[in-house]
Order: sequence, then C-alpha cells, then structure tokens
Amino acid sequence: MVNAIVGANWGDEGKGKITDMLARESDIVIRFQGGANAGHTIVNDYGKFALHTLPSGVFYNHTTNIIGNGVALNIPVLFNEIEQVVSKGVPRPKILVSDRAQMVMPYHILFDEYEEERLGKSSFGSTKSGIAPFYSDKYAKLGFQVQELFDEDALRAHLERIAPQKNVLLENLYHKPALDIDKLFNTLMEYKKMVEPYVCDVSLYLSNAIKEGKNILLEGQLGTLKDPDHGIYPMVTSSSTLAAYGAIGAGIPPYEITGIVTVCKAYSSAVGAGAFVSEIFGEEADELRRRGGDGGEYGATTGRPRRMGWFDCVASKYGCRLQGTTEVAFTVLDVLGYLDKIPVCVGYEIDGEVTTDFPVTTKLEKAKPVYEVLDGWKCDIRGIKNYFDLPENCRKYIEFCEEHIGYPIKMISNGPKRDDIIIR
Ligand code: GDP
Repeated sequence: MVNAIVGANWGDEGKGKITDMLARESDIVIRFQGGANAGHTIVNDYGKFALHTLPSGVFYNHTTNIIGNGVALNIPVLFNEIEQVVSKGVPRPKILVSDRAQMVMPYHILFDEYEEERLGKSSFGSTKSGIAPFYSDKYAKLGFQVQELFDEDALRAHLERIAPQKNVLLENLYHKPALDIDKLFNTLMEYKKMVEPYVCDVSLYLSNAIKEGKNILLEGQLGTLKDPDHGIYPMVTSSSTLAAYGAIGAGIPPYEITGIVTVCKAYSSAVGAGAFVSEIFGEEADELRRRGGDGGEYGATTGRPRRMGWFDCVASKYGCRLQGTTEVAFTVLDVLGYLDKIPVCVGYEIDGEVTTDFPVTTKLEKAKPVYEVLDGWKCDIRGIKNYFDLPENCRKYIEFCEEHIGYPIKMISNGPKRDDIIIR
C-alpha cells in the first residue's frame, strides 16, 4: 500500500509532523522531489529536529528511509543530517539513496547565489540551496547522477564536458572565477565516500516491497502552490510538489498510490515572493507569526520570518484538488485560540467578480480577498483527543473550512507533538 503526504498550499503546513506520525505504521518512507531548500520540523522524544533532506521516518528503527531519484541530493547535507540525528541519540537509521538521484554540485549553490544577486530587487527569494540551477541542469541533460561517482574516468570526462558551458556564464555574466575541475573531482570523490554505503536500485527495491505488501509512504515537500506547472509560476519551486510526481520521483507505478493525505494549516503562511491573497500585515501579522507553529513562523532552513495570512479556502480547495486528496490533515489549529474573531478567505474578487476557483498568475495578482468572519473559541485546545471535546466554535471553524475546500478533514493537529492529534 502506498500513501502520499503532501501540502495544499505554500509549504510549511506541518507535513513533517504528520509524516512522522504516519511513519509509525510505515515500513518505508521516501522523499521523491525537492532538496535541502525546505525543512520539516519534528518534535519527538529525542528532541526537536529540522530535517532538510532525510525522510521523516528516521526516528523509527523499523523504517527504511529512501532518497528517491526525483530529489536534488546534496550529499554533505545528507551526511551531516545523519550524523546530527545519531549524535542526539537516535539509533542509526536505515537509509537508501537512489543510484539515479542527481547530485547538487557545489557550483549549483554558487549559481543560485549569483543569480539572486544579479536579479536584485526582482529576485525569487531563493534559499540559495542550488535547487533551480540543479533542476535546470537536470532537464538540460547536464546533471550528474549518483551512479557516475563509481566510474571515475567517465566522471572526469563529464566534468570536462560541462565546464566550458558553466565558465561562459561564470566569467562573462557573473564575473566570478571559472570552475576548477581537479578540485571538483576531488570533492566528488569525498561525496562518493559519504554516499557509498547507501546507494541502491530504488525502483527495483520498491517494486519488490510493493509485491511483499509493505506500507510505503511518499513524503512531499512544499505544497501545490509551489508546483512548477500548477502553482503560482514563476514564484514556484523547480520540481513538482504533487502526489502524482511521487510515482516518478520514487519510481513506482502511479496506480499504486491509493491514499493521498493533503496537509492544510489552519491559517496561511508563505516564504519567498509571489501573490498571497489573504496576507495580513503589521501587528496583526506579527502576533500570528509569534504565536504560530512551534515557537513562531520562521523558516526551518533560513530562519526568515514567514509571510502570514488567514486561511484561504480558494487556494486550499485548489491545492487539495490538484493533489487528488483522499483526506485532509488540518494542522496548527491550537494557535488560533487567542483570537476573538477569525477571518476566513472564501472567495477572490477579480475585476469586480467573485470566484472560488483559483486563477492563473496574471489574474491572481489582481485578486482581493473576500472574507467571512467566524467567532473564535478563546481557549487552549492542546491536549484534547476527541473531536466532540473541542469547543463548539472550534468545530464550527473546522466544518466551515471543510465545506469550502470540499475534501474531508479526517485529522486535526492541535499541538506540535506526535500525539497532539485528533482523528475524526
Ligand atoms: P512542514 O515543512 O510542512 O513540515 O512544516 P514546518 O515543519 O516548517 O512547520 C510546521 C511547524 O509547526 C513546526 O514548527 C511544527 O513543529 C509545528 N507544528 C506542526 N503541527 C502543529 C500543531 O498542530 N500545532 C502547533 N502549535 N505547531 C505545530
């Protein structure tokens, strides 16, 4: 059985916690896209962890954790994360890395920095992890797969082939030093030592696991609105954030994915640039940011303050639809307990007309939020385990959002810990 956990919105919906929770029943957890540009925050008995590359199943010793071929693999980041987790007392996790995964090269990170610098005010707000240059190279057929580390002559020849192309940009567009092929080759040999114990033919491994009836979990990063096709292009990420891509980024048949848990946060937050219709500002935003998540809404990778907003039914309905949601996990609801009144965005007004369907980017830029204001519940709901023990106004809020997004909310997260969860 294969399930996917994905985000409906801009990311940071609390997927890490839900994955960590569902990983308890999983034999295998797989990352299938993205890189170390976003992070999951997980709080458990070992402490608080920000994972950027490792799948969220690493805290269970019955779980095999896989880096799929669709991931932008930064090998030193992977290696350091494994060591960090182990140093905090977690038993050494079982990890496999696809031999077809491509590697983030040191120059991808440089290109990311240089390009953001060149764009200045119109930059994307990239985390500068090299993700956009990495995926550009992958699809321009200039990338390096992990398997290439094991054929040194071919690897060196490949480096020599790509260097002239990179150097034209480095020297003429960015006015920076050219690539040093010997140094790069030596770095890759270091990468080889770090990754060698984990390399595996992942799609074959998964094919056998599916035959054996194993429970498999696909772990998405970011959310629908950051998808390069269906998101707020061009303010998106460079790999697909949709559950459907799980089939490709892990190497399994699409019809095997039968459960799609889409995570929606009970309010909105976003990082990076781009339209954000229900965004709020000033003291109202600061207070929600301070109280949000677990210790404030600040980027897990960058520490940047996140942009804040009210729950957006238009974006979430769209986000859930594109994921192919079978159930919604509604997270971080406890944070809203301080509010007397809670606005919810139920429509977008564009050129004088109200729609509940999420528009293309040019129209999105013009959209103004249409709000309905619900009554708050004014208490702390952490610790509550049964749906009907929630205050009435809190249930009304959940049911209101559920009706507007049109997908069943089956899990409600009311705190950062593993068991702060209400199953409906
Ligand atoms: P992800 O990338 O989707 O996993 O999201 P992040 O990990 O960046 O953001 C979620 C943040 O909210 C983390 O700090 C979590 O510990 C925290 N969190 C998750 N679920 C809840 C919840 O139900 N309540 C509260 N207060 N915090 C939560």
